[in-house]
Amino acid sequence: MLKDSNTREIKKVVIANRGEIAVRAIRTCKELGIKTVAVYSEADKDSLHIMLADEAICIGPPNPQESYLNIPNILSAAEITGADAIYPGYGFLSENPKFAEIVEANGLIFIGPKPSTLKLIGNKVRAKQIAKQAGVPVIPGSSRRTSIEEALDIAYEIGYPVILKAAAGGGGRGMRVVYNEKELREKFPLAQSEAKISFGNDTIYIEKFLINPKHIEIQILADQYGNVVPISDRECSIQRRHQKVIEEAPSPSINDETRKRLYEAAVKFAKAVDYTGAGTVEFLYDTQTGNFYFIEMNGRIQVEHPVTEMVTGIDLVKWQFLIAQGEELTFKEAPPIKGIALEMRINAEDPKTFTPAPGLVEKLILPGGFGVRIDTHLYPGYKIPPYYDSLLAKFIVWAQNRDELIKRALRVLNETVIEGQGLKTNIEFHKFILQTKEFKEAKHHVKLLEELDY
Ligand code: ADP
Repeated sequence: MLKDSNTREIKKVVIANRGEIAVRAIRTCKELGIKTVAVYSEADKDSLHIMLADEAICIGPPNPQESYLNIPNILSAAEITGADAIYPGYGFLSENPKFAEIVEANGLIFIGPKPSTLKLIGNKVRAKQIAKQAGVPVIPGSSRRTSIEEALDIAYEIGYPVILKAAAGGGGRGMRVVYNEKELREKFPLAQSEAKISFGNDTIYIEKFLINPKHIEIQILADQYGNVVPISDRECSIQRRHQKVIEEAPSPSINDETRKRLYEAAVKFAKAVDYTGAGTVEFLYDTQTGNFYFIEMNGRIQVEHPVTEMVTGIDLVKWQFLIAQGEELTFKEAPPIKGIALEMRINAEDPKTFTPAPGLVEKLILPGGFGVRIDTHLYPGYKIPPYYDSLLAKFIVWAQNRDELIKRALRVLNETVIEGQGLKTNIEFHKFILQTKEFKEAKHHVKLLEELDY
């Protein structure tokens, strides 16, 4: 039921993405009775998301700049097909405030937070300031754009090691750890020029580098009526080069009291940026002291959202659509958590060197059975294009307890076959991680994969 006459029903949506997330969103749209328009680059003409959508429009050449990031072409696709909304997924244009603004200026619904919110959280320095003002703990360090002289002073005060971060950074890029003054002097200008080239903004800030913290994040849903509800936490401490590899919900590392405090902090921050839709507030958790610190908020659906869906039974993508239509959340409290879930990101990469290894999918046997969910865009005969990220599939496993969970995850990996010319995957890497003592005992932290001999 729509709440008042100001709300708008979404009848047809352009899915401005590709791969597994486009497939995942189209599935929910079908259940909601919303017609879907797939957009695709020339390299994606044989993609699964095109086959599942009601309509499909080519928006340009393989290079993402000319297709999935091409705002005029995506808007044209909406106009030609008479769509009334755009769903951005993750990556590409999902957190671009200008895109959200243009979508709205064209009379379409952007399924995501307000452009003003995206602007606030898109700058990590700004987001940190807001967190601090809202009483959410932040990592000691600078809370504004920092010069090299200031960085030296701050590092002296908070002590080495420190981490240099690009304010506009994301996806695990734009960070450098520095162990002493000499290194700071050397790396600061490099970090600046790298940030300028990669993100178009050379703002750098500095933080205390926490030793072996855990990454714990809170999923929230916020409607247009001021209701902000935490929908479980996720631990994403298994990372390679700051990029998540395995995620788990709920975190096996915190007790209910800490969980409650994290929920409260996440809600406080989301309210402070006037958040609407599905979003994630990320924290680092220091196991030595039991302290947690805000690092950033992501204003989109995240790759790892299915683990939360598995333990809560809530379809987060469905709620993104309902909230965008103006519906009110039907639950105002954190939902009960049932069991435990983990997600393994299956990438097309060389298991030893981690370099991308896309190819032709000639043999495909996907796992199944009790407690297993597979989100993928693969099918036999599909040729994986080399132009985009290497995520092939997400294996999501649910169980009653962690012991059962790890056994099931291994069973799932062991029955999988993804083979073909030129194609390699990180399945063996996942098996290795799941069998480490540290992971089994939930003693893993964000640097574990660097320490292990794989
Ligand atoms: P991004 O937006 O690129 O994902 P984040 O700020 O979310 O960057 O940080 C990503 C990861 O980098 C964290 O999960 C953690 O592993 C590491 N990291 C970030 N800040 C710190 C810090 N101050 N100390 C230690 N590790 C950090």
